[in-house]
Amino acid sequence: MRPDDTSTSRAVLVTGASRGIGRAIATGFAAQGDRVAVHWSTSRERAEQALAELPGEGHVLVQADLADAEAAGHLVDDAARLLGGLDVLVNNAGVFTAHPPLQTSWTDWQQAWSRTLAVNLVGAAHATFRAVPHLVAAGGGAVVNVSSRGAFRGEPDNPAYGASKAGMNAFAQSMAIALAPHGISVTCVAPGFVQTEMAREVLDGPGGDAVRAQSPYGRVARPEEVASAVLWLASPGARFSTGTFVDVNGASYLRS
Ligand code: NAP
Repeated sequence: MRPDDTSTSRAVLVTGASRGIGRAIATGFAAQGDRVAVHWSTSRERAEQALAELPGEGHVLVQADLADAEAAGHLVDDAARLLGGLDVLVNNAGVFTAHPPLQTSWTDWQQAWSRTLAVNLVGAAHATFRAVPHLVAAGGGAVVNVSSRGAFRGEPDNPAYGASKAGMNAFAQSMAIALAPHGISVTCVAPGFVQTEMAREVLDGPGGDAVRAQSPYGRVARPEEVASAVLWLASPGARFSTGTFVDVNGASYLRS
């Protein structure tokens, strides 16, 4: 389909859609009539459940460990084949493992950096590379990256995570310029804490109230609030906003 045509169903790949924010994003696209490839890595049953509960039809499941470059490439091709093309890629899958610099062993430090960059940054880059031919064949489309407030504010207990998301932002800006001539926008959402399993340990721990108090709303984001921003960034009306970052942090951190 043409990218500016909203009357027909678009083909959308959402990585990390087995749970959390990715599942909410997949549900949002499906609710507006799009066909969604629900990607999972280890949570097969939850992905199957997510797929079964999506509104509409034409949705599919795809699996890959995004730390594996070949698997990331095949994932995108599988999604495009099963959906009959690709109009939107959402790079949402990610990992968040604490490794505070003064309390982490050398071995754990190396593992945290390798794994975090492999999944959050390099996995997203590989998926994007492999999505480009499909998006070009579709006449244009959108890549939306789920980044983080931590890219701007810093992540003192999880520096690899902050670096991976800052890298994702820089990658998105480069690709926005490279792909605009082909009718493809590349953007990022930057959530603060979101009520998912990834944040559960922090939010349910002794520092949870302080985290919620960072926002004048006195709470963290719901996954659906991140999905709402992603849906807009993937819409034809947002095409000229390519290269942008949309904060979803309840004014907990205001960039100037
Ligand atoms: P989550 O509930 O922990 O879900 C993570 C998702 O990523 C799962 O679907 C998981 O798949 C997938 N995933 C993890 N490792 C993977 C790998 N090696 N290969 C492929 N997929 C993998 O996390 P979430 O909170 O929804 O986070 C989604 C995105 O939002 C992430 O990029 C995260 O950095 C970002 N974010 C989250 C927060 C927050 O507070 N929650 C804040 C800012 C940004 P399986 O379960 O199938 O393994």
